[in-house]
Amino acid sequence: MGKNVVESYHAIRITTLKRRGWLAGGGYPGHLSWSRLGERTGSIDLLTWTSKGEGTMMMYTYSKTEIFSHEVKLVSTPCHYGGVRWWFICPLSRGGIPCGRRVGVLYLGKYTGCRHRHDLAYQSSKDSHKFDRMAIDMGCDPRAFSRMMNQIGK
Ligand SMILES: [Zn+2]
Repeated sequence: MGKNVVESYHAIRITTLKRRGWLAGGGYPGHLSWSRLGERTGSIDLLTWTSKGEGTMMMYTYSKTEIFSHEVKLVSTPCHYGGVRWWFICPLSRGGIPCGRRVGVLYLGKYTGCRHRHDLAYQSSKDSHKFDRMAIDMGCDPRAFSRMMNQIGK
């Protein structure tokens, strides 16, 4: 069976990488695949490189005609009782500003990032005036109100 394009419901967990020994220092090639109801729905190849608590994951995804590569930074934080906990740094950027969130799960798709359906997050950020009407109705400054609502939404 050929390689499929990854769908947005596919996700990578940092714990999977750790469990498979791909974060143990040095470089490792890896492969992950997903299936649903016994049918392969997608697969990716990985290359991880870690050293001194930091690292990089290269991800390769495939369409019928192209290979896409994504680079994701990896960082670790010390655990309370020894050892480290690893994180992905969300590779998405919005309007040129990197997301940079430290996350344990990376959702794959058209936009690979920290949130399921990140493309919708894009949509709503463009839609930043959506609270203006509400603010005016409440007698608030629309900009301050929008900031507050966006904070709540996080
Ligand atoms: Zn993100």
